[in-house]
Amino acid sequence: MTTTTATVPAAPPTPNPAEVTRAPRPDIEPEPDGRLDRFLVGVFVAVPLLAVLGITMGFHRHFTHSSFKAARPLRVSLAIAGSLAIEGPVLVWVADHRRHHKYSDREGDPHSPWRFGNDWKALTKGFLYAHMGWMFNPNRTSQEKFCPDLLADAPIRRVSNTFPLWVAVSLLAPALIGGLWSMSLAGALTAFFWASLVRVCLLHHVTWSINSVCHTFGHEDFDVRDKSRNVAWLAIPSFGESWHNLHHSDPTCARHGALEGQIDISARTIWIAEKLGWAWDVRWPDEDRLSGKLTGKRSKRLGSMTKRHPAEPDDLMAA
Ligand SMILES: [Zn+2]
Ligand SMILES: [Zn+2]
Repeated sequence: MTTTTATVPAAPPTPNPAEVTRAPRPDIEPEPDGRLDRFLVGVFVAVPLLAVLGITMGFHRHFTHSSFKAARPLRVSLAIAGSLAIEGPVLVWVADHRRHHKYSDREGDPHSPWRFGNDWKALTKGFLYAHMGWMFNPNRTSQEKFCPDLLADAPIRRVSNTFPLWVAVSLLAPALIGGLWSMSLAGALTAFFWASLVRVCLLHHVTWSINSVCHTFGHEDFDVRDKSRNVAWLAIPSFGESWHNLHHSDPTCARHGALEGQIDISARTIWIAEKLGWAWDVRWPDEDRLSGKLTGKRSKRLGSMTKRHPAEPDDLMAA
């Protein structure tokens, strides 16, 4: 028979003061530090905004159409910002776009959806060609003929000639920043995916939609000789470029969304630059010039920023 000896319970170990004060582990892990995520979202938002403005306000309204004059630092910044959109060097972009206006929806237009005919089959083919296909056409627009002004501008020519550098910056900078910020390959790859690949893809489709959608669908608010149309649902993503019918009707006008209620973020940014003294001689919509072009198909009035011409005192006396 075995006898059990009564065991005296061991005295609890002396608690470590550090352990006493430590809170029990929670059932749910605390949220990881979200600073990297917020930073990447910031990169994902800010870089595209700059690149879009570089195209809409810079390549298009300033360099192609001289809708406003800009201080040298703003001019060079717009050329660089537009290059970050990776839509080609500024001189190539401007030459192609000036040719588009010269031959709009006729033979010679580099990207008309109506190029192959009017029936639905030809138009579908033309739509795809206007959206993307035209870029694979080896025929290049003559820069000597279409943008001699920019060829003569040394700083802008330099930005244009160094386009591969801006492509590298645009694609690699987000990855580099994301990698350094998180000190991880995952951070670099996440930033590269969202702030480089997705951003460039979205931006290209918005720009290409102006060539394809806005020359096929939409409203003809102003008289034009081509098929350019105003497309409301693209106004915000395109920063106002989808008011393309007004643009073809009055190409040098700085505000494309000239009618009441038409949102035009690029025009508002030009307005801010004008207030800051960075832009001047802005060609705002002109009531006299535009009211005669209104088709009257929709009851719309010219919006804000329009230059009105009140009757002269002499006219009032005569009336
Ligand atoms: Zn244009
Ligand atoms: Zn057009």
